[in-house]
Amino acid sequence: MADVTRVGIIGGGIVGICTAISLLEAGQKVTLIERDAPGQAASFGNAGIISPWSVVPQAMPGIWKQIPGMLLRPRGPAGVSPRHGLRYLPWLIKFLDESRAQKAKANSDAMHVLCGDTVSLYRQLLAGTGHDDLVVDAMYVHAFRNGNAASVQSLGNQMRSQKGADIERINAADLRNLEPALSHDFKAAILIKGQARARDPGRIGEVLAGKIETLGGTILREAVVDLQAHDGAWQIQSDIAVHTFDKVVMAAGAWSADLLRRLNITVPLAAERGYHVSYPDADVILNNSVMDADAHAVASTMNEGMRIAGIAEFAGIDAPPNPKRLAALRRTAEAMLPSLKDQSPKTWMGVRPSFPDSLPVIQEFPGHPGLIGAFGHSHYGLMMAPKTGRLVADIATGKTLNIDMSPFASDRF
Ligand SMILES: Cc1cc2nc3c(=O)[nH]c(=O)nc-3n(C[C@H](O)[C@H](O)[C@H](O)COP(=O)(O)OP(=O)(O)OC[C@H]3O[C@@H](n4cnc5c(N)ncnc54)[C@H](O)[C@@H]3O)c2cc1C
Repeated sequence: MADVTRVGIIGGGIVGICTAISLLEAGQKVTLIERDAPGQAASFGNAGIISPWSVVPQAMPGIWKQIPGMLLRPRGPAGVSPRHGLRYLPWLIKFLDESRAQKAKANSDAMHVLCGDTVSLYRQLLAGTGHDDLVVDAMYVHAFRNGNAASVQSLGNQMRSQKGADIERINAADLRNLEPALSHDFKAAILIKGQARARDPGRIGEVLAGKIETLGGTILREAVVDLQAHDGAWQIQSDIAVHTFDKVVMAAGAWSADLLRRLNITVPLAAERGYHVSYPDADVILNNSVMDADAHAVASTMNEGMRIAGIAEFAGIDAPPNPKRLAALRRTAEAMLPSLKDQSPKTWMGVRPSFPDSLPVIQEFPGHPGLIGAFGHSHYGLMMAPKTGRLVADIATGKTLNIDMSPFASDRF
């Protein structure tokens, strides 16, 4: 039996929460330190996609042709704040490097390691909580206004098919039968089958945080201000107290890089902000996760109503939400689902922790024994969190991992 280790986890987003559960199940003594309520930052407002087939990185061959258009369209799906543009230049150069065909293929393989079992892992995490219905089976419908653009042979769909995804193209009439609420402007769709969607990502965080306490873990509502190695252990200084642990997991999402800088660990982590608009009074439903392929926004019926999430905005981590982005997302929502017109949505902004290759860091930092990284899940953290948690538990308990972890190393760039 493995020794019991005191593990402190910094950050109670979905990654920290899943990691806490895996460590508790591995018999460790776990304390999760979160400055707000658990599961409420990026992990609250995402699009809820849980897919084994999220194996298409953001940096794909040919993306360079799309970047100027994306960035220059103020109402487009991506943008850089003029104030922070220069700061993101090195990140963008790395991103473009990752878009080379060979690298994109390797990144896709590594994504599959983290996403491949996600649906069954969520079912296991939720089993016994009484909230299994927070994750439901669904397809991912990519809806196209230009029917010619909907191809099962696109590079992304080839990557998905190679991993085993069942993909079909349907025409406008079949799309109307499948999702009657969608605008008739969509002329065709690609269906990616065999995945799931979260009906309320924030509630999943709450429920699983409750499970941490049921399993004997501790959750502290404190803000970490510093961490230091001390006498073979780790000391975490919060705004309230100093805590000592044998091991520490850095799972503070987009804020991880700032905390690690105190230890002279630097990583190219971007604060990639996303938004959602949600319509509690929507009188229409969607049966699946539906992406507007032009606007790169995803609509999904959640417990709270209809949510449309998207936008990739590179700006300061603490900058206020940009009303122009929200207005653009609202227009996208109404173009996808015309019955939403004239309704007032609730709005939300969250920060994705993004590396240029769409992969996180999952690793004990070289030269810092006992400090394990679990952050940087960019657009995929909800679905990658359960597997990340298991891998971190294996690292913390000294298990031999039978997979190649080099794609998740902190010094890979
Ligand atoms: C619009 C949008 C749509 C998305 N759609 C999807 C999707 O459909 N599927 C999917 O898989 N992913 C999706 N994502 C990505 C996903 O939401 C993120 O990758 C994921 O939530 C990251 O989880 P995390 O736990 O690493 O970070 P977070 O959820 O941001 O959690 C980090 C936590 O650390 C805490 N923290 C930070 N600093 C400190 C400190 N000093 N002390 C204590 N606590 C601290 C924060 O309060 C926060 O709670 C989407 C993201 C966005 C923005």
